[in-house]
Amino acid sequence: MMPCVDAQSRQPTTEATALPSILDVPKDRIGELMHELGEPSFRGRQLWGALYRSLATSFDDMTDLAKSLRGKLDQQFRIACATPSIETRSADRSTDKTLFRLDDGELIETVLMRYDADGHRKRRKTVCISTQAGCALGCTFCATGQQGFRRQLSVGEIVDQVLYMERVARAEDQREIEQGERSRGDLQGVTNVVFMGMGEPLANYDNTMAAVRVLNDDQGLHIGARHITISTVGLPDQIERLGHEPVQINLAVSLHAPDNATRSETMPINARYPIERVIEACRAYIARTNRKVFFEYVLLRGQNDSAAHAARLGKRLRGLLCHVNLIPVNPTSDGPFGRPSREAAKAFQDGLAGYGVPSTVRVEKGIDINAGCGQLRARALRQSA
Ligand code: SAH
Ligand code: SF4
Repeated sequence: MMPCVDAQSRQPTTEATALPSILDVPKDRIGELMHELGEPSFRGRQLWGALYRSLATSFDDMTDLAKSLRGKLDQQFRIACATPSIETRSADRSTDKTLFRLDDGELIETVLMRYDADGHRKRRKTVCISTQAGCALGCTFCATGQQGFRRQLSVGEIVDQVLYMERVARAEDQREIEQGERSRGDLQGVTNVVFMGMGEPLANYDNTMAAVRVLNDDQGLHIGARHITISTVGLPDQIERLGHEPVQINLAVSLHAPDNATRSETMPINARYPIERVIEACRAYIARTNRKVFFEYVLLRGQNDSAAHAARLGKRLRGLLCHVNLIPVNPTSDGPFGRPSREAAKAFQDGLAGYGVPSTVRVEKGIDINAGCGQLRARALRQSA
């Protein structure tokens, strides 16, 4: 593991902290704002492009805009609303994890994962982002769940995590082009975004969906909807609501057990929404969208990883338009669970295949940098305690 470094840039001044972030101003409001400042509406489009396409970090960098306008914006707003406080990189350099400090001192985590091309998929860079500081849902294998709920993230705080990692990704693309490792047409930046960091995205529904629209906007980052995945603990009403959204994102549902007795042992939310209700919502989502649902299944040794569990899961999901991601648990310091062996994971996969249910065993990235959900924050808090 690389040593943790304290990021030196982007420390907010006290004065700057008092200003709202422009990243929290919705697109339609930006046009109105320009009107209020006596500017033509195309300035709003320029400002939007400067923020989400050119990734400006200060209004002063926006040289398309008149100096007087830049000055007015600078008096009313700042840009960044998440300040990196610890940055780590895995030994194989594939994974970066950043702990951000928000204005009120809350800490959230973001991960950048670099994947080489393989037989099925192109080279890609995926950012895993947080939607809440902490989480109220208390899953027992999850470091975030063990720390409790702090607050919802704003749209700007969600989007800023991607902007930060996009700058990292573009800078390394640029370096590789200069070193002749890649051609100029190969500029890539962040290709995929997964809402799998801290918190429950569908419990912060409106801000999550507003952030999706910003990320997907063709005048900005323009990350394809099919390259965006929202992971949920399985809130049925919100899953059904998501099915009615016009934007075609991927849905991942955290199942982690084939039956109510097993699921209730690690996921307290199961007492409120039993597994039948979660699957019923998924069925409605599939019927409405005709899109495949991904089920996340964290393999916990001796808890949910036996042949009998695989058979029960296979029976439950048989015939459903779905794919199961099997994830050997990333053990947390306080959690009681260990990882099953590679063979046990393979046997579980074979068990599902017997019912015609497709699955993949996920190769974990960044275990050496506490890349699991909430683990870096937990470590930072332990160290500062
Ligand atoms: N709250 C949402 C999204 C954030 S968690 C959800 O639960 O889906 C993202 C994924 O990481 C979930 O599938 C979650 O169960 C999984 N996860 C949590 N703790 C983990 C751990 N210690 N090891 C592996 N996966 C974990
Ligand atoms: Fe919350 Fe997801 Fe962690 Fe469960 S797994 S505690 S829902 S963040």
